[in-house]
Amino acid sequence: MAHPPVELGTFPTPVEPAPRLAAALGLGPDDLWVKRDDLTGLGGGGNKIRKLEWTVGAALAEGADTLVTTGAAQSNHARLTAAAGARLGLDVVLVLRGSPGVSRSGNLALDGLFGARPVWAGEVDRAGLDAAAAAVCERLREKGARPALVPFGGSSVLGARGYVRCGEELRRQVPDLRTAVVALGSGGTMAGLVAALGADSVLGVDVGALPDPAAAAAEFAAPLTEETVAPDRLRVRRDQVGDGYARLTGPAAEALRLAARTEGLVMDPVYTGRALAGLAAAVRDGDVRPGERTVFVHTGGLPGLFGHAEAVAYAEEGAVPYDL
Ligand SMILES: *Cc1c(COP(=O)(O)O)cnc(C)c1O
Repeated sequence: MAHPPVELGTFPTPVEPAPRLAAALGLGPDDLWVKRDDLTGLGGGGNKIRKLEWTVGAALAEGADTLVTTGAAQSNHARLTAAAGARLGLDVVLVLRGSPGVSRSGNLALDGLFGARPVWAGEVDRAGLDAAAAAVCERLREKGARPALVPFGGSSVLGARGYVRCGEELRRQVPDLRTAVVALGSGGTMAGLVAALGADSVLGVDVGALPDPAAAAAEFAAPLTEETVAPDRLRVRRDQVGDGYARLTGPAAEALRLAARTEGLVMDPVYTGRALAGLAAAVRDGDVRPGERTVFVHTGGLPGLFGHAEAVAYAEEGAVPYDL
């Protein structure tokens, strides 16, 4: 049984036209709309808020007083878990990959501002990160705390329910939607959209956070829909991963500049930059066509831009001095 969600965000988020971006991609001026899930409110906003409403709701129902979660050093999910804890008066411990030597900017600066306590797990794989989080929970229990472990990226069947709700908003806002394009990281966001809109209507762009993200999305979606969701039935592009999650790819860099200069919209280097580059590739190869309604789901990530040295350097390159 799912526990009731706790209200953390501001919903429904707006849907806005993006005619200049559409034209730049080779679509008609009325074909492309942006679902502003970067504007979910709490803690700088982003897609993790919708998932946290459910996972933190369950933690509260269990009587937790401390939230524990895992992520990369520049995890948007970790930052928003920190904000949710602050809002609700819960302690937050973040088990992060890497070491304290990494950039203190971006999401990490906000984690500190929200009062979350970091635990540095070193250069571990996903299993190592999970083991470190289990050890932290054990230690907290010994000290008399009541920790609840929020899953990696906030993604689980429960967390994905937040994106079922987003899919329902989209169905009302854009009734003739043909394709919703979204970044695919830990899988919960795509899973919920697939459950609400159907597998044929959601295009996920893999960012390289998991070895098999389609399997994760299918696993989280299956219990939420009558439709059969096998991983190979999902529309997933894997051509935007590049040298991996943390690196800025050429197409993502171009996408950052394009969205900024056509619509004043900021993409992040890891997720939405790749997702927009994936949409551009999908238009080129005919998977997304002019004359169909496409929604780009903007999942947030702006603070991560400032914690990403390559992306900041790239953005600064664009500042060509005005020649008087
Ligand atoms: C986490 C994240 C995603 C991916 O969502 P998942 O549910 O993990 O697949 C997309 N965009 C941003 C900005 C994110 O932080």
